[in-house]
Amino acid sequence: MTGRPTVAIAALGGTIASTSSATDGSEIVPTLTAESLATAVPGLAELASVRAETLARLPSPSLDEPTIMRTLHWARAAVDEGATGVVVTQGTDTLEESAYLLDLFWDRAEPLVVTGAMRSPQAAGADGPANLLAAVRCALAPASRDRGVVVAFDDEVHQARWVAKTDSVSTGAFRSPVFGPIGRCVEAEVVYGVPAGRVPPLRLPLAQEAGDPRVPLVATYLGDDGYVLDAIGGTDRIAGAVIAGFGAGHVSARMAEAVGRLAREVPVVFASRTGSGPTGRAMYGYPGSEIDLVARGAVGAGWLPPVKARLLLWALALRGPLARADVVAEFELRGRP
Ligand code: ASP
Repeated sequence: MTGRPTVAIAALGGTIASTSSATDGSEIVPTLTAESLATAVPGLAELASVRAETLARLPSPSLDEPTIMRTLHWARAAVDEGATGVVVTQGTDTLEESAYLLDLFWDRAEPLVVTGAMRSPQAAGADGPANLLAAVRCALAPASRDRGVVVAFDDEVHQARWVAKTDSVSTGAFRSPVFGPIGRCVEAEVVYGVPAGRVPPLRLPLAQEAGDPRVPLVATYLGDDGYVLDAIGGTDRIAGAVIAGFGAGHVSARMAEAVGRLAREVPVVFASRTGSGPTGRAMYGYPGSEIDLVARGAVGAGWLPPVKARLLLWALALRGPLARADVVAEFELRGRP
């Protein structure tokens, strides 16, 4: 057939590609290729000519930044070679992170859509085929252009930077706290409720910059005395750190001292562990509050949740040692709607 647009589909593994050889369907592991995922979707072949590639067959907890950066380069090449849009399938556990990392560097107008499934292909009511079909429709829709990376899941479309997996098992696990989905997949159409547009992407790292800086994420907890943060600190070991703080980004007075010690060496960003809402700016003044942490050199993540704040800091650290002013400017730009 001629005249069909091309959609490029990359598979990375996850539940959407997982099968079981046991008679009771237990112990599923990623086995399926991108090609077999695409072939199993009714109606997909009529919509587009598919260029399928299996880039990994991993459970998504074992994906890492270099794998996602390779996926990014594959997706850019696919667009350069004529794809109307790109779909990446992967496990849902880290999908919100991969999508955001791709989004930070996606410098094409063409849609890049990430999806997955909560139920495996052999399960009753498997959601993978429906999610993949919706993702392909989304990738082909002119209305999806110039939106950066989006996540299509359960017939909703979410911006990569706000979407989060908010449930461990539900097929409606993906939500965008506070801001909500930006679109819906209805019948064959993708309808957006907000105009196209996005924050400009980061400059792609040059070949010699493409390392894998270590940027740990440290969650604080009741009674935290800063022991973990002190244990991981040191410019020679990490490029920066993110704290998942209480409420609007707060920590204990003792943890605040550890934050101050580390912030003298590398950038330290504090985010909210609540899963919704921004870090504070000017409300609280006690030791460990947002005002105190900023005075000690730390930087607020704004509306970015801890895992996405960590990826932004990782992406910035690719360019080498970071100046605090640059970190502040990037979080100001990318940490707010
Ligand atoms: N439960 C996961 C999924 O939905 C497994 C993974 O993330 O690979 O795909």
